[in-house]
Amino acid sequence: MGTVYNDPVGDPAKYADLPAADAILVTHHHGDHFNLDTLTALMGDETVLITNPTVYDKLPADMQAQATALANGETGQLLGMPIEAIPAYNTTEDRTKYHPKGRDNGYVLIADGLRIYIAGDTEGTDEMRALTDIDVAFVPMNLPFTMDEDAAADAVAAFAPKVVYPYHYKNSDVFAFADALTGDTQIKMAKWYV
Ligand SMILES: [Zn+2]
Repeated sequence: MGTVYNDPVGDPAKYADLPAADAILVTHHHGDHFNLDTLTALMGDETVLITNPTVYDKLPADMQAQATALANGETGQLLGMPIEAIPAYNTTEDRTKYHPKGRDNGYVLIADGLRIYIAGDTEGTDEMRALTDIDVAFVPMNLPFTMDEDAAADAVAAFAPKVVYPYHYKNSDVFAFADALTGDTQIKMAKWYV
């Protein structure tokens, strides 16, 4: 498949020992998801970039030439496999200022035969809950920007991926998420904050 990064930010030196990116996904323009300096360092001549339209508009022309903008619901190609932009947004009234509906993306992509869902910054939307046949899901939980542990567990139970990785959960209690999650989904923990 190749190496795909999602929302790479931070010091490019942190990526020095990791494989070069064949593709980079960016879900939205917030600084903890989109950093032009990081992208510039990680983009090779052949690296493909997929973003939402807001991020695409912020790219320099040379990077736009390697980029594809996908709006909510649109599908494209990622290293020869289909990728779909899933809407990512807040549904709670006093949080919609962070991620208004229609702007930001999550992604469903296929890698090594697995259907992978990267949620982006979102609450448990109808579109998330309606997903089917997801093998691996990456779901956020952090207030006030996305959702709490119980809401994340409720949404994950609704689409029942085979495996879920909590991610982007700083200051949340992933064990509370694990306690609240029902069904057969296996929870995996990754060391995101090292
Ligand atoms: Zn955000």
